[in-house]
Amino acid sequence: MNNPYSWLEKSLETIHRADWYRSVQTIQGGSGAVINLAGKEVINFASNDYLGLAGDTRLKIAAINAIEEFGTGSTGSRLLTGHRELHQELESAIASLKQTEDAIVFSSGYLANIGTISALVGKRDLILSDQYNHSSLKNGVVMSGGCVINYPHNDIQALKTQLIQKRQNYRRCLIITDSVFSMDGDLCPLPEILNIAEEFGSMVLVDEAHATGVLGKNGAGCVEHFGCRGRELIQMGTLSKALGSLGGYVAGSSSLIDFLRNRAPSWIYTTALSPADTAAALAAIEIIKNEPQRRMQLWENVEYLQALIRNNLPKLKILPSESPILCVQLASATDALEVGKYLKEASIFAPAIRPPTVPTSRIRITLMATHQQVHIEKLVETLHYI
Ligand code: PMP
Repeated sequence: MNNPYSWLEKSLETIHRADWYRSVQTIQGGSGAVINLAGKEVINFASNDYLGLAGDTRLKIAAINAIEEFGTGSTGSRLLTGHRELHQELESAIASLKQTEDAIVFSSGYLANIGTISALVGKRDLILSDQYNHSSLKNGVVMSGGCVINYPHNDIQALKTQLIQKRQNYRRCLIITDSVFSMDGDLCPLPEILNIAEEFGSMVLVDEAHATGVLGKNGAGCVEHFGCRGRELIQMGTLSKALGSLGGYVAGSSSLIDFLRNRAPSWIYTTALSPADTAAALAAIEIIKNEPQRRMQLWENVEYLQALIRNNLPKLKILPSESPILCVQLASATDALEVGKYLKEASIFAPAIRPPTVPTSRIRITLMATHQQVHIEKLVETLHYI
């Protein structure tokens, strides 16, 4: 009898041959603009900690206090023993930031997306999903059993054509899009998407994972940035990026949130967000509200890097970006790996992102509010030689 697991090694060999193999790298110590990567001090252009809050003392104290009061684990699902007042406070704070009627927190952004989509959509429904959407959105779509059409990235005309041709054949329709595309750094055309959705009676789910705390005057995300607050839509996001904690959220109407509490399996059947993560996220929202200068510093850093690249590296192929995510396009996965290695040797951590995560290989650079000008200058000097 053949070993039924032998295909695993063969599959791994194929992954290696394509230069698609991934492995973890150990960060020693905490997060920040400069980190210790496997014993070497590097400038960190790989983090989603956009506002530098993951190491903020106030978040740490909030988490420690919550552990002292409630313990380390939440011990059960929200509907059983897991629910604390702290969860309610966090959900109210998110709803207030987002200016929605209500909000619900999940134990991760990934769980928020798969739970929400599979709760809202069934076999008789249509999903229109941007081809570059995050993996969690794509997996939510698969779990929902709905009919999915992946429309070309940010192509409003293609989206409209699909709606004209297909909408009437389905019970309900959901348009799904990232607001900041995590591997490219561009934004979705949200006002146009909402207009089309209204015209065709479709729901819209927008993933604000990389926009929460980053975009909009108050850090409420892309929906605020585009002046779309108050319009009917489903907003999700994560507590793990600019908010420096862990967990995910959905914000929207009270009927939407009530429905999710009754129908989202990844909320009902999983252990509630831990007290420490909940308290840290709550502290982060308070800081986002009271310290807009952090967000302003982040955007100054973005503008500084873009200007330096424009003036010094005009030949560098940068994907169009309107966010703190900047991608340098490279010809192949091998090239991306080599450039990533070269950057690391020069004490810069900016990872190679390759297929199948993205269609074309690239180096992904993310900026933080805590980067100093010298960090950004060093990055540009180093990129000069690639
Ligand atoms: N959506 C997007 C666009 C993301 O980038 C991520 C995280 N990489 C998620 C959802 C999932 O969020 P979390 O890490 O909280 O599970």
